Amino acid sequence: MPSCSKCKQPVDSQAVNCPHCNNPLKAFGHPGITLYQSEDNTWLCDRCIYHQDDTCNFPQRPYAQSCTLFHDLSIPLIPEIATPSSRQGWTGIKNWFYRYRGLVAIALLILFSVFLVLSSR
Ligand code: SF4
Ligand SMILES: [Zn+2]
Repeated sequence: MPSCSKCKQPVDSQAVNCPHCNNPLKAFGHPGITLYQSEDNTWLCDRCIYHQDDTCNFPQRPYAQSCTLFHDLSIPLIPEIATPSSRQGWTGIKNWFYRYRGLVAIALLILFSVFLVLSSR
């Protein structure tokens, strides 16, 4: 269960405001828009991925203490999807053949040509 950044009390993940201190937890009063807030008067931008890659153009940057787009630097934007080891065998071979299908086709053509030349003698 998430906690309020201001009073540290546990709050419902859908709560728009903290029921204990009335701190806004969602932006624009919409339960679907998370409002990230800094704790202890620090800046969110210091640990935001969009500040690091210099793609943020929000006016509150680099001193944002609350932001709807904050993304923690330590968490990758696109989570890695681990392929189960049981699916790497045959699927891995099929993927390899699909990826290099042009080279495989050329290799097969060369082998077929060599076979034809050798068999005609
Ligand atoms: S997205 Fe928000 S927290 Fe991140 S750099 Fe921009 S203003 Fe700062
Ligand atoms: Zn609170």
